[in-house]
Amino acid sequence: MKITEIECHVLVAPGLREDATSSSQDDLVVFVHTDAGITGVGETDTGPWLARAALESPGSHSMAMGVRDLLIGQDPFDTGALWERLYTYTAMSGRRGAVICAMGAIDMALWDIKGKALGLPVYKLLGGAHRDHIVPYASLQPSGGTVAEYGASLVAWARRATELGYRAGKMECTLDGPYRHLGLSGTDAQMTEIMTACREAVGPDFAMMVDVQYRWPDAKGALRTLRRWADLDLFFVETPLPPDDLDGYATLAQHAPMRIAAGEWLNTRFEFLDLMDRGRVDVAQPDVGRVGGLTEAVRVCQLAQDRGRLIVPHCWKTGIGIAVSAHLATATPNCPFIEYLPAELCDSPLRRELATDGLTLRDGRLCLPDRPGLGVELNPAALEKFAWRKP
Ligand SMILES: [Mg+2]
Repeated sequence: MKITEIECHVLVAPGLREDATSSSQDDLVVFVHTDAGITGVGETDTGPWLARAALESPGSHSMAMGVRDLLIGQDPFDTGALWERLYTYTAMSGRRGAVICAMGAIDMALWDIKGKALGLPVYKLLGGAHRDHIVPYASLQPSGGTVAEYGASLVAWARRATELGYRAGKMECTLDGPYRHLGLSGTDAQMTEIMTACREAVGPDFAMMVDVQYRWPDAKGALRTLRRWADLDLFFVETPLPPDDLDGYATLAQHAPMRIAAGEWLNTRFEFLDLMDRGRVDVAQPDVGRVGGLTEAVRVCQLAQDRGRLIVPHCWKTGIGIAVSAHLATATPNCPFIEYLPAELCDSPLRRELATDGLTLRDGRLCLPDRPGLGVELNPAALEKFAWRKP
């Protein structure tokens, strides 16, 4: 089998707000076509125009070759060899950033092709199932123009998640720091109030996580509040510090009363090695698209397992990414949860309309994916509806 074409779709939800703290407003969807008539699909979570350029740009010399050119004519079954081929021959223009994110979408599509060609779900090709179900945690993104509205919205989402049967959920609480919600400003004490109200809403048996989106500039500032959250029984706190403050992460991992999680933006296993060995985080959160695809995500999972750390993959896109995370979690022993943007609990029309992931939620658990490949079905009308057109 040979790869014959790479097809890219930049998708944008209507009314996109650049100041909203959500990357579910756009997408780059990639189709990899083959001469066997089998097509694979992937997506990636970064600036979609950047990732498309990373795929479509022609090469200029042997260290900055074109990704598309490197793929045409190759065998899609060679996922490991192709990953190395792309990484090596884009070393000067790539290695990190948009090229790795774009490689992630391609790599997903290649695994989809392999599974479809063999009539097997992708997790079987990754070594088989370590579990008989997957526990998704609902990512809950509040709205509101004041701190009071924001807190009430988050508590309402949390309550709704429990009513829908979720056993785990993450509260996005971004009242300060560089990515605060629509410029909203709140204090640590207000965040503590909101988190306490959320815990009361979900009850003691719900696995509750918090994402503070790089809120505190240093570890000591973070620790003051994290120590006050000891009684909230949090499963983890995500990205408390700037991503490059690895020594700060190590301080928190040692002294905070709950697990520390990070890694959503990282590219390649090499960045995860730094995060785990210098940053000492308890939970590594590869986003399958951004880390460089399933091929690379599996390596990160193995490195985490070797170190006794947990994997909880990041995913803030559509049913494509959710399906990929589900296959990864199925085949990974140290992965207790996957991130899951519930279609009924989010504002993203792309999440709701673009793709079905083939996973059924029952009693807060997802069945294992069982269709060949990734098991994703795309809605062609949504591809058309959300297609970005140059103004
Ligand atoms: Mg996050």
